[in-house]
Order: sequence, then structure tokens, then C-alpha cells
Amino acid sequence: MRVGIMGGTFDPLHIGHMMAAETARESYALEEVWFMPSHIPPHKHEAGASGEERLAMVEGAVRNHAAFGILDLEIARGGVSYTYETITLLQKEYPEHEFFFIVGADMVQYLPKWHGIEELVRRLTFIGVGRPGTPLDLAALPGFIAEKVLLADMPLVDISSTMLRARAAEGKSIRYMVPDAVYDYVQRSGLYGTQPRSAD
Ligand code: ATP
Repeated sequence: MRVGIMGGTFDPLHIGHMMAAETARESYALEEVWFMPSHIPPHKHEAGASGEERLAMVEGAVRNHAAFGILDLEIARGGVSYTYETITLLQKEYPEHEFFFIVGADMVQYLPKWHGIEELVRRLTFIGVGRPGTPLDLAALPGFIAEKVLLADMPLVDISSTMLRARAAEGKSIRYMVPDAVYDYVQRSGLYGTQPRSAD
């Protein structure tokens, strides 16, 4: 089975993440895409959501897509998880699957710095999507990485989780910038400094 992994902190999950997963799925005939929230050390991220809250938001958002699922392995393990270690575990558990790791342009540029990248590119293929602010430029990558990055064409989405947390804290709406289930969750729980209230 061809499986996409959509990794991120998802604090909160937004439509840029959803579109990246859907575009990669469609472009490269992925049978499933597993969203994998990463662990965030609590001291690093005081204003953010807990692992449980981030998982709950992702669960709500992927529920309606038959090909989307969740992988809670990095949150469950805690501590820093290198993608390299996670993929090693996944390949042991699912030796018959072919894995594709979905990343935005900012991450594509950063790939040479990833822990274990030499081994990682032997084990999986990356699918890169565009994101405003960083050109999606494979020529800037070392050849051994560039040849393992496929590109998927999606409309640019100028939304980041940082921007959404700031908007929420200022009392501005984040509706339609995040999936409905995420919007409802944030409103109900008062995450990011929103005033808790029932969804309107
Ligand atoms: P933060 O602002 O908190 O750093 P973020 O919006 O960058 O968060 P992450 O959860 O860190 O979101 O991103 C996970 C993955 O999704 C990364 O590969 C990132 O490049 C990609 N991604 C995030 N936002 C977008 C977007 N608007 N368009 C395309 N890809 C995106």
C-alpha cells in the first residue's frame, strides 16, 4: 500500500495542512494519508495546545475523509522524535507499505539538516508542496535528496499555525482557515486565548 505521512505540530491544524495531504494523495495515488502530530516539549510551547488537544483537533478534521487517518506514535512516545526513527519503526511494523512523507516548501529547503537524511532518502520519498515565503527549488538541494522529492501542485495558502494562534489571541476569527471541527474545538475549549463559548 502507498501511504503518505503528513507530519506536523498541528497547533492548530489548518487548511494548508489539509490541502497538502489531499493534493499529495491525489497527485501520487496514495491509498491513505496518516496525519502524525509530533511531540512538543511543554516548556518550548507555553501558549500552545497539549498533545491530547492537538490529537483531538486532528481526529475531528480527518474523520470525514475515508483515506485519512491518524498516527499518534510520536505523541505517545514523548520526547524528541526524529522522522528517521519514526520511519524505521513504521517500516518494521508495516514492511509491505511504501511510505511518502509530505512536506511544505519551508521544510523541503530544510531537508539537508534533517537527522539521518542520507538513510531517510533510501527509505522513503518526499512529496513537496508550495508554500508562500519559500521557493520550491529542488536545484538548491544536494542531488541525492532532490532525486527523492516529488512535487505536487497546489494553490498557495498563506496560513500558518503561528498566525492562527495570534489571531485567536487577538479575538479575531479563524473560521474557514481551519477545518470546521478544529474551529468548533478551539471555540469550545477556549484554546489560544479565545473566549470559551458554544460554536455559533
Ligand atoms: P507553525 O506556524 O506553528 O510553525 P505551521 O503552520 O508551519 O506551524 P506545522 O504543523 O509546523 O505548521 O507544519 C507541518 C507541515 O505542513 C510542514 O511540512 C509544513 O511545511 C506544512 N505546511 C504548513 N502550513 C502550510 C501551508 N500553508 N501550505 C503548505 N504546507 C504547509
